[in-house]
Amino acid sequence: MDDRLFRNAMGKFATGVTVITTNVNGTIHGMTANAFMSVSLNPKLVVISIGEKASMLEHIKQSGTFTVNILSAQQQELSMLFAGQIKEKREVQFSDLQGAPTIEGALAQISCEVASTYVEGDHTLFIGSVKDIQLEDGEPLLFFNGRYGSLAVETTMQA
Ligand code: FAD
Repeated sequence: MDDRLFRNAMGKFATGVTVITTNVNGTIHGMTANAFMSVSLNPKLVVISIGEKASMLEHIKQSGTFTVNILSAQQQELSMLFAGQIKEKREVQFSDLQGAPTIEGALAQISCEVASTYVEGDHTLFIGSVKDIQLEDGEPLLFFNGRYGSLAVETTMQA
């Protein structure tokens, strides 16, 4: 099957956008990812999928931990930065959730310990055991058909 057809089909699934952060020996790394989902309520587990070419793969293997930061509609630039779509280096101020690196303003910051790892094709699935959660108010950044978007705001007609 053609790669483009597969990519186009997957792009029809509208998602939010996350930045995965991890701390390796005091250095914080980030990577944009939308392959994220909730796995289990009891125990509380999530999964992320990281490509074999991404440097984040080795970072998470080393740290054994990661934080999922669900981006707000105002954070498209951060998504582009951590996806390598903005080339120049930028200083990012990270926050902290019980020692885990987080992105301030992200709607949910979910810190995890790696519970198990599955290599599937050219990606690795990391199952994360959720350790801590912080929530913030706001609207989500969306990704659909290879493009960013945001929720349409519902307006009510006033008489
Ligand atoms: P690098 O190339 O090392 O880092 C990526 C970028 O982040 C670089 O520009 C770097 O300068 C910047 N950066 C990293 N750390 C910091 C820091 N501390 N301060 C400032 N800047 C920093 N790939 C997947 O494997 N799985 C997915 O689920 C996935 N979903 C995606 C969803 C979207 C919407 C997009 C746009 C891309 C997605 N990607 C996904 C692709 C992935 O984001 C890119 O391939 C990314 O460049 C790979 O990053 P890397 O780990 O190799 O890190």
